[in-house]
Amino acid sequence: MTSTHKPLVIITGASSGIGLATAKLLSQRGHALLLLSRRLEKMVQLGLPNTLALAVDITDREALVAAVAQAEERFGPVDAIINNAGVMLLGSIATQDPSQWDRMLDVNVRGLLNGIFAVTSGMVERKHGTIINVGSVAGRKTFPNHVVYVGTKFAVTGLSENLRQELSPSNVRVITIEPGAVDTELLSHTTDDAIKEGYNDWKQEMGGVLAAETIAEVIGFAYAQPQSVCVREIVVCATRQEQ
Ligand code: NDP
Repeated sequence: MTSTHKPLVIITGASSGIGLATAKLLSQRGHALLLLSRRLEKMVQLGLPNTLALAVDITDREALVAAVAQAEERFGPVDAIINNAGVMLLGSIATQDPSQWDRMLDVNVRGLLNGIFAVTSGMVERKHGTIINVGSVAGRKTFPNHVVYVGTKFAVTGLSENLRQELSPSNVRVITIEPGAVDTELLSHTTDDAIKEGYNDWKQEMGGVLAAETIAEVIGFAYAQPQSVCVREIVVCATRQEQ
């Protein structure tokens, strides 16, 4: 049975990497959680208290909205959403299957917008809430074989700042977290082996990359500020990441 808990936080992409690490951290801090991703068992296995885990593809707007309603019914109004789910399918623009471009645009941009849609009207009505969008340093600068991924992350940077301005009069915070390379499953979905190998070499050359837990701490820091304080944007990379 649930006892008292801190307000509800929604985390998309909670089945691995940054989302999973953030789920653990915010649960330790006592928050009720709605965890979303396609792999239900990975989220259930965490065994976190006051947590509803649902298999939702964030490109399915209706399913996402229904999941939020279900969680709010159980835990009360959502205080924050961490729009973290994303895919990175690196490729050379001349040879990459454009269905991979569609996938990145669908998840990283449309899916993130679905997350925003699911919570914004309620937050504006309550004049309270926090939207945390996980962008990337690739939303500020370019990298080899990243054309479409960079496009999606520049979209996140731009739409987040515009959203921040639009929601500021309603006392709703919009925070953008822009990590450099982090050790997660992200690269594993790229289908071009030579590009994957090159990326892994790059990671090694810089002496290893950030841990997902580090990004969770950064998210936790920004969120833990008082509602009157908005940490607008954090770019966080390994010190030895030169680009
Ligand atoms: P992971 O691949 O480890 O995690 C991605 C998460 O997104 C998984 O939980 C996955 O769950 C979920 N996801 C993917 N597609 C969907 C979908 N359609 N619907 C719901 N959930 C989905 O990568 P990271 O933790 O690294 O990535 C998290 C975010 O951080 C991404 O936005 C990424 O772009 C960003 N980022 C990562 C960096 C890195 O170097 N790792 C650097 C900069 C930014 P499932 O497959 O179960 O659906």
